[in-house]
Amino acid sequence: MVSGPGRLSVDRDACRGAGQCAYNAPELFDQDEDDGLVVLLNAEPAPAQLASARRAADACPNRVIVLAEPPERTEPG
Ligand code: SF4
Repeated sequence: MVSGPGRLSVDRDACRGAGQCAYNAPELFDQDEDDGLVVLLNAEPAPAQLASARRAADACPNRVIVLAEPPERTEPG
């Protein structure tokens, strides 16, 4: 079980505006109206949003998106 939110960061200098991020996770990413580059909407995706955050990171052709996932919670015993 995931214990908390993840952490997302993007390197806008490496972004080429392909839009895979906003396509795969529109609740987390948008594209700038002027230059088309990624806009991070939520840097701390909730556990329920981690799957789409991962999908967006995997789909980004320039590997612009870095997702640090929270540790799995291990039940004692
Ligand atoms: S998928 Fe990657 S390169 Fe494309 S807009 Fe998103 S962050 Fe930028």
